Amino acid sequence: MTGNRRDGGLPDMIERAWRCTVCGYIHRGPEPPEWCPVCGSPAAEFEPYDAAAAPRAGLQAAGLRCLNCGFPAPGGEPPDECPVCGSPADRFEAVAEAATAAAAGSTAKVLIVGAGIAGLSALEAIREAAPGAELTLISRERELPYYRLNLTRYLAGEVTEDELPIHPAAWYEEQGIRMLLGEEVGELRPGEHGVVLCSQEVVPYERLILTAGAHPFIPPVAGAHREGVFSVRTVEDARELLTALRPGVRCLVVGGGLLGLETAAALGRRGAEATVLEGHEWLMPRQLNRRAGELLAEHLRTAGIRLLTQARPKEIVGDERVAGVDLDDGLHLETDCVVIATGVRPNSHLARRAGLDVNQGVVVDNALVSSRPDILAAGDVAEHRGVLYGNWFASQYQGRIAGLNAVGSATEFGESRGSNTLKVVGLDLLSVGRFEPEDGSYYVIEEEADGRYARFVFHDGRFIGAVLLGDASAAGAVKKAIESGCECSELLRKEPTAADILEHLQAR
Ligand SMILES: Cc1cc2nc3c(=O)[nH]c(=O)nc-3n(C[C@H](O)[C@H](O)[C@H](O)COP(=O)(O)OP(=O)(O)OC[C@H]3O[C@@H](n4cnc5c(N)ncnc54)[C@H](O)[C@@H]3O)c2cc1C
Repeated sequence: MTGNRRDGGLPDMIERAWRCTVCGYIHRGPEPPEWCPVCGSPAAEFEPYDAAAAPRAGLQAAGLRCLNCGFPAPGGEPPDECPVCGSPADRFEAVAEAATAAAAGSTAKVLIVGAGIAGLSALEAIREAAPGAELTLISRERELPYYRLNLTRYLAGEVTEDELPIHPAAWYEEQGIRMLLGEEVGELRPGEHGVVLCSQEVVPYERLILTAGAHPFIPPVAGAHREGVFSVRTVEDARELLTALRPGVRCLVVGGGLLGLETAAALGRRGAEATVLEGHEWLMPRQLNRRAGELLAEHLRTAGIRLLTQARPKEIVGDERVAGVDLDDGLHLETDCVVIATGVRPNSHLARRAGLDVNQGVVVDNALVSSRPDILAAGDVAEHRGVLYGNWFASQYQGRIAGLNAVGSATEFGESRGSNTLKVVGLDLLSVGRFEPEDGSYYVIEEEADGRYARFVFHDGRFIGAVLLGDASAAGAVKKAIESGCECSELLRKEPTAADILEHLQAR
């Protein structure tokens, strides 16, 4: 392939990439797409992304690699700062050529359990790195790997079921991948290098990658088994919920996090009367301070979503079918259906039973290898340095790294600086760092105007946290300043406004 030069002097063969700041989707091409195919955000939400940042096969061949995020820097000199995670030059180490050469020639039998984004990303990375590897993918779900995070858009009627799959069936055939869909793994047998399906078939492996994801956490509320109680994790869950919907149907959504709010908005778009029950005093308390949570609630109410805060279900009542919910303060709410969106738990039971180290998730090291050297784990099922990321971007990124490592590459996962920029029912939101002061030594600047809210938190003159609501266009500069511990003492002496702070950060 020859590379023609464009105006900017870059050869065409050098791939450009763009990252959706809302969901983390990476688009490769000269321009960002008009709309994010994953979450529907417009082109303006995309930021340039270093095409090399998603670890690709062979890129780290004869060069240096960031120990923190795996970014490969070819040549003998490390960059001053890693363009992906900002780590300094001394965090780069030489990568042995042999590791990549080993991957290229690998004919390893790799078995991937779980066809979510982590499993698919592992598969894609292995195919690029090791065309000769023998690949099998097992999934309890019958569907081809799909955009799970688009399920609320599917519920809302914004995308069809045909638009959910990530690749068509033909892609898996072309790649020579053995697909065992609709098959559940019931047991791992690490000593025998095999897994046992519920059908009793034993599938052997040389390397196993666990990407079994997570399941909805159902709080211990009496009556949660009744007909008409749903959760949303799989396309099958979404189909079932859709069958219960008709205009005017009453639906209580338990949980005021991102999934609960997006689900309520989607149900509203289908003509249902959706009410969100949040146990805390305000919405998204892990991401938002009280005022920001209240402003988000106003936005949602304007969008037609009803909200009850400090509302904790005690019992889901009815006969076989749900008829109402009793709250622990004595309030009774009548309803036709209930959706539970109170977080997820990793599907780590198979690994625990097989004797692997498991805390909440399967414990992995930087190479995403579990306590058994031939078993790796990635995505929602994995726990890395005590962190369960539970998001799309980290799952995708970890999947690639686990895939490369399974065929003999040497790539590490440091931590994901994935997006903490969200779009909640159309409202931009950034929450980063510490946003609640712990004592009088913290300094907070807070402003709201025209439906926008900004909060900046400083400690000892350093910028340590921020919340932006309604306009997160400065998210990149704000995140970078917080991550680098930006010193702002001089600026603070001038008693700056929010606009002054943003100007200062963007000028850095
Ligand atoms: C509706 C919804 C909206 C979301 N929105 C966002 C968002 O906006 N941004 C964001 O960052 N994240 C979002 N998330 C979270 C994100 O989708 C997950 O973090 C991500 O999909 C996790 O990917 P994974 O591959 O680790 O696991 P999963 O996608 O859960 O995949 C696990 C796979 O393992 C299979 N499996 C499990 N157990 C077995 C077994 N015993 N045998 C065989 N197969 C098994 C399952 O069938 C499945 O195929 C959302 C999630 C949902 C449900």
